[in-house]
Amino acid sequence: MEKRKFAKLGIDVSLLGFGCMRFPTGADGKIDQTQAEEMMDKAIQNGVNYIDTAYPYHNGESETFVGKVLKKYPRDSFYLATKLPVWLVNSIEDVDRLFNEQLQKLQTDHVDFYLMHAMGKERWDAMLKLGCVERLEQLKAEGKIRFLGFSFHDSYEVFEEILNYRDWDFCQIQLNYMDIDEQAGMKGYKLAEEKGIPLTIMEPIKGGSLASFGEDIMEVFHEVRPGASAASFALRYVASLPNILTVLSGMSSMEQVEDNLKTFMDFVPMEEKEYRAIDKVKEIMNSRIQNGCTGCRYCMPCPFGVDIPGNFSVWNRYHMYQNYYVVNWQWENMGRDGKQAKNCKECGKCEKSCPQHLAIREDLKKVQVDLDKKEMIPGRK
Ligand code: SF4
Ligand code: SF4
Repeated sequence: MEKRKFAKLGIDVSLLGFGCMRFPTGADGKIDQTQAEEMMDKAIQNGVNYIDTAYPYHNGESETFVGKVLKKYPRDSFYLATKLPVWLVNSIEDVDRLFNEQLQKLQTDHVDFYLMHAMGKERWDAMLKLGCVERLEQLKAEGKIRFLGFSFHDSYEVFEEILNYRDWDFCQIQLNYMDIDEQAGMKGYKLAEEKGIPLTIMEPIKGGSLASFGEDIMEVFHEVRPGASAASFALRYVASLPNILTVLSGMSSMEQVEDNLKTFMDFVPMEEKEYRAIDKVKEIMNSRIQNGCTGCRYCMPCPFGVDIPGNFSVWNRYHMYQNYYVVNWQWENMGRDGKQAKNCKECGKCEKSCPQHLAIREDLKKVQVDLDKKEMIPGRK
């Protein structure tokens, strides 16, 4: 198992980390504990030593389950990461209460990597106002937290603000080859690297959407690395960056565990020709975009409640990834809120303000027809 060591932390961390938010589940929606435990055991026995969970994963069940599985391993043989659910924090007492609850669920007296969860501007301001960072620093001084960081979902500017606030031990960002300009993105990666703050990476496979493709894309990958899985390209793309401590993969099956282990047991950094292959794959995916909506929102509001840029964003991504499950959550929410394309009354108001001169009414009809299929696009494996 490939390991990374940063002087700042002084420990060897496996470059593959086990993300505990997508365990297999049973018909009741609860974690299939037998299968999930086998998967964790397999990963740990093959050198994975970074286990990442969080308070809300699997409706609160993940921490308890992870604590139970890890109990059978010596406490100094793995690094446990979990996160403060900052949205539940209204006082310093809440920090202590939640942290102690987490220790109890995880059956441990300390957390190796503790993160303020899913930070954005609003949450950061609230944490500062309450003095939560100082309280977490005290917990670190007491030895209950070894390394303090935050996970992040907001714009680059907010990332810069939080990163510059103090000398963090590490932090966690979303990064994959399709999202290098999203959220903190590659610019955020570079800033962290300059400051000597190691990064843990989430969503390297973009929630599974970079794990399976049709033959056209697989051919591009196999030309440069025959037999390699699509997921292995996505993982190696981020893992080849030097300032990465661990790449988290939220594994859902033993097959995924085995494939990921294969990638990191004999880890080979990306070669130049592989970066070119990824560029080609991105080109293919971008060529499937249906219209050039920029999300500027000049067309909004629609008097009938249609979320015009939202519909186009869903439609374009559905075609890019050729996968309904990349957009189902957003699409179904829009349905519940009356924002889907079918609510368009064709008044034409929006088209007058669209700087891209899009045929909004016509395109909205296509959106509804395509998304109502709720299926992988025909022709896709
Ligand atoms: S044409 Fe449709 S989407 Fe555009 S403003 Fe009118 S009702 Fe809304
Ligand atoms: S005005 Fe045009 S480009 Fe801008 S969000 Fe609306 S549809 Fe998209």
